[in-house]
Amino acid sequence: MSVADSTGSADAATEFCIHCGQAAVGGEHASCRSPRTALEPPRFCSRCARRMVVQITPSGWSARCSRHGESTSGDPGDSAR
Ligand SMILES: [Zn+2]
Ligand SMILES: [Zn+2]
Repeated sequence: MSVADSTGSADAATEFCIHCGQAAVGGEHASCRSPRTALEPPRFCSRCARRMVVQITPSGWSARCSRHGESTSGDPGDSAR
């Protein structure tokens, strides 16, 4: 039961910080927003702040939320390239 279905638009509302899991708005994410951290795989789902299962792939990383499915560093659309 993994419905990795996104609505297509990449600008989904990011409610939680994917790096520290805190609310995206109002928190201090100085270290989360550093260019270096941006290259690191996310640890928390941006929609539910669940801790995601992160795997390093040859192309980057893939992170899977048990609720919202998998997202990768490449295309979040999960389409064959
Ligand atoms: Zn943060
Ligand atoms: Zn989620």
